[in-house]
Amino acid sequence: MGAVLTLAKFIFITGGVVSSLGKGLAAAALGALLQARGYSVRLRKLDPYLNVDPGTMSPFEHGEVFVTDDGAETDLDLGHYERFTGVAARQTDSISSGRIYSTVLEKERRGDYLGKTIQVIPHVTNEIKDFIAIGEDEVDFMLCEIGGTVGDIEGLPFFEAIRQFSQDKPRGQCIFVHLTLLPFIKASGELKTKPTQHSVKELRSIGLAPDILVCRSEGPIPEKEREKLALFCNVRPDSVIAAQDLASIYEAPLAYHKEGLDQAVLDAFQIAPAPRPDLSRWLDVADRIYKPEGDIKVAIVGKYTQLEDAYKSIAEALTHGGMANRVRVNVEWVDAELCEREEVARYLEGFHAILEPGGIEARGTAGKIKAATYAREHKIPYLGICLGMQMAVIEAARNVIGVSDAGSEEFDHEAGGKRFEPVVYHLKEWVQGNHKVSRKVSDDKGGTMRLGAYDAHLSEGSRVADVYGTCAIEERHRHRYEVDIKYKAKLEKAGLSFSGMSPDGRLPEIVEWRDHPWFIGVQFHPELKSKPFDPHPLFKDFVRAAKDISRLV
Ligand code: GLN
Repeated sequence: MGAVLTLAKFIFITGGVVSSLGKGLAAAALGALLQARGYSVRLRKLDPYLNVDPGTMSPFEHGEVFVTDDGAETDLDLGHYERFTGVAARQTDSISSGRIYSTVLEKERRGDYLGKTIQVIPHVTNEIKDFIAIGEDEVDFMLCEIGGTVGDIEGLPFFEAIRQFSQDKPRGQCIFVHLTLLPFIKASGELKTKPTQHSVKELRSIGLAPDILVCRSEGPIPEKEREKLALFCNVRPDSVIAAQDLASIYEAPLAYHKEGLDQAVLDAFQIAPAPRPDLSRWLDVADRIYKPEGDIKVAIVGKYTQLEDAYKSIAEALTHGGMANRVRVNVEWVDAELCEREEVARYLEGFHAILEPGGIEARGTAGKIKAATYAREHKIPYLGICLGMQMAVIEAARNVIGVSDAGSEEFDHEAGGKRFEPVVYHLKEWVQGNHKVSRKVSDDKGGTMRLGAYDAHLSEGSRVADVYGTCAIEERHRHRYEVDIKYKAKLEKAGLSFSGMSPDGRLPEIVEWRDHPWFIGVQFHPELKSKPFDPHPLFKDFVRAAKDISRLV
């Protein structure tokens, strides 16, 4: 939708007291509510850490890396933004201190600052302010989430920049939403407001006064505490919004609406009369989430199973697939290294489907290959994503067409000198749009993968063409290695169709076993494009296949 308001309004979302309160989710749900009132929105994340982007950070540290159509490797909060608003994020929706500083330093080296002394104020803050304003004329509301918690050393330039930004704009163009925690103290049976008071005091000491407080708490906020928060934090009582724990994140838009968050935002901007919201999309989502008609069990065989955020979008896409089929998807995380050492049946028996997610390096891959054999032989629905597809192809090469040392070039350096037959090789040249991209083994690790949206052609009559309902698709990629088409003819003869290929026919995008109820490997990441109100076709049909199996047993 185009802009309705003449000037974009900016909503800055900050966090206090502790991290992990769900700022990203609150921002995403608020975006969805503003859309429900007919406005256009864009959400943006400003992360204070010094990495240039999260692309090189371990999923154990930071959860999954979310990839945009235009190839940015971003924070997983951008996944929430897309899942709640359906607005495709861009390179310009995610920034870190690392990138800001590297831009400033590049400019300094080029001589752009004409000999001036480079300082946090104004050079770094100006860079942040320019970033915030990108594309402001395209939308009604720009929601900017500041990563971390107020008081963090790295966050200071960002807080200073948003303070200046709101001063640079005409009055009434910017508001500040602060997310905090109200801890419940069992001994006294009370919700405590003091940490929030301190957090707001901290914000005010750097020149920011919140207009709205969103308070995470286990239960409702009693009137007395609400009034106390309003009084001590200098906000209106109806701008103290309770954010109680929810059974599903997809209830958040409805819950925040009930608490009056979107109304408080419109009031803060003095938008009256407020357009009435159409919440039908979210009512349907909640109905599907809370009233499933059955259960299925899916095993995710992966490496980062201790931290579920490492596969955030996959877990969400499975939930969406479940919603489309009106079943609850119960996910169990199976450590690939356990499958490596022992009989896989021990870990995989009883599941209605097996999913192998993306990943890097050799650790755990022997277990993943065993799990792929198990799914193929026992006719269990299998979805292999990126590394998961590579595992399925290596499995087929080893066990079906007799390439006993089939492997990936990615594993060679970890195999103690053993060299595998490169059925999966290091991709050094490919076509993006109408130009060639080249890579060397010695390239930097950051930002050098095959990243972002690429077209693929699906074979007529294939299962995937049927699932997608089209032969032309576009999906997001994030990988360095690629299945070699050298093995295509032999594998296809054995029953593994290469049913999706890059437009030039050189890069395998999808493989599927023909005589299997549902066995598909994809080189891309379909999970990144799934939404609760628009589940990805592959996840929808994967869950459907698992549901069919669950009815048989
Ligand atoms: N490590 C593999 C590659 O780079 C797979 C990457 C992934 O699963 N995202 O090709």
